[in-house]
Amino acid sequence: MEKLEKRILEDGQALSETVLKVDAFLNHQVDPQLMYEMGTYFKKYFNKYNITKILTIESSGIAPAVMTAMQMNVPMIILKKSKSKTLKDDIYQTTIHSFTKGVDYELTLSKKYILPEDRTLIIDDFLANGEAALGAVRLVEEAGAKVCGIGIVIEKSFQPGRKKLEDQGYDVYSLARVARLDKNLIQFV
Ligand code: 5GP
Repeated sequence: MEKLEKRILEDGQALSETVLKVDAFLNHQVDPQLMYEMGTYFKKYFNKYNITKILTIESSGIAPAVMTAMQMNVPMIILKKSKSKTLKDDIYQTTIHSFTKGVDYELTLSKKYILPEDRTLIIDDFLANGEAALGAVRLVEEAGAKVCGIGIVIEKSFQPGRKKLEDQGYDVYSLARVARLDKNLIQFV
C-alpha cells in the first residue's frame, strides 16, 4: 500500500534495528482516513474467504480491524490482554511473549463470541516474531473455528514471523513490508 509506505517514511521513526515507532498515525494518534483505506485493502484481499468474524489484539490492532470489519460487514472481536476475572470455563486463554515489552502476557477470548463454524481473519498492527498472531490462532483453533488469513499493517520482513505463519499454512497479507531498519533508516522490501 503505497500511501502507507509514504506515511511510514514521513512520520515513522526507526528507534533501533528492530523497532519502528508509528505513534503519529497508528499506535497513539490514529489517522481514521488511513485506517479506512487499510480496511479497503484487507477486504479486497480476504473477501474470497467468506469471513464471518475479524479478531484483533488490543489495543493497536483495533483501528484497522474495525475499519475492515465495517467494510466486510462482520463483527470484530478484541482479544484481551488482561487476565479474565470470570470463570476459566467461559474463556479460551493462551500465553504470549511480547516482542516490544519483553514480558509474557495472557490473551483471552470469551467462548460466547466464537463458534466452531466461524471463518476468521486475524488483523494486527505489526508482525515481528509472530508470537501475537500465533497466540490468536491458538485461541481460534481451540474453539474449533477456522483461521482463513492473517492481515498485518506493518510486517518487519527481516524477522521470522511471516515464515513461521506460512510454514503452518496460513495466508499472510501485509500492507507494508519493511526490509531493514536502522537509526533514521527505513527500507521496504
Ligand atoms: P510479534 O508477536 O509478531 O513478535 O510482535 C507483534 C506485536 O508486537 C504487535 O502486536 C505489536 O504490538 C508489537 N510490535 C512488534 N514490533 C513492533 C514495532 O517495531 N513497533 C511497534 N510499535 N510495535 C511492535
